[in-house]
Amino acid sequence: MDSIQGDKLSIFVLGVGGGADHVYKGICSSSLLLLKNEQPFCLIDLGLGVVKALSHYGFALPPNVVITHNHTDHSGELPVVLRVEHARENRLRVIAQEEVSSRLQSHRMAEHAQVCNIQELAVWDTAKEGERLYLDKDYYLRFYRAKHSELCFGFVVYRQSAEEDGLPLFAYSADSGFDKSFYDDISVAPLLILDARENGNDWHAGFDEVSALIDSEVFIIGHGIEQEDISNAQTQLSLLKPGQVLELSL
Ligand SMILES: [Zn+2]
Repeated sequence: MDSIQGDKLSIFVLGVGGGADHVYKGICSSSLLLLKNEQPFCLIDLGLGVVKALSHYGFALPPNVVITHNHTDHSGELPVVLRVEHARENRLRVIAQEEVSSRLQSHRMAEHAQVCNIQELAVWDTAKEGERLYLDKDYYLRFYRAKHSELCFGFVVYRQSAEEDGLPLFAYSADSGFDKSFYDDISVAPLLILDARENGNDWHAGFDEVSALIDSEVFIIGHGIEQEDISNAQTQLSLLKPGQVLELSL
């Protein structure tokens, strides 16, 4: 336990773009890189533009890749990356809730199905909602179902501790509309990264809805909206920018 007390964990923001942003504007999709002791440890979503953003910031692909759902801006680069890395004898570990993983393997990866065994291209690690899934021996996550147009799970990352439930470090909502019980599940973490847009809808929360939650430290993926663009009433929201680093306190 002593060694992990000394770990330094941080989240590097690779992109904050939404569905069409990379296709039409070349902006990196929403993606986060979890760094452990300054080294890439876990990639959170692999939508369009993410590999280029990693190399732009000087990072290698980490061994763990968490995918929240099968939308192009969250998993669009998965087929090419798994195929290329497998050819380089780098079999990535793809972590997803079990039904999301099935969708990725049968739908997202379909372009390779005639020539490859999809199972062998990656290590597909899955968990049911709320179960522990270990990133390594010291850190694990639990998925919780978000409210979205495609089956989608946000999650909480924990550090193993003497207490039964571990120490929650941060949570990511992935894409989600406002859902009280989902936010209750992920609000155990002291730092929340939430999807929100200026005008919410069924599948993406609105700034006004997430403003009400500010018990934890909250950061927003605003999908193209910048801090300068938000109204005075919303200035307590912190909108993430590409290249930003959030230090996690252990
Ligand atoms: Zn989505």
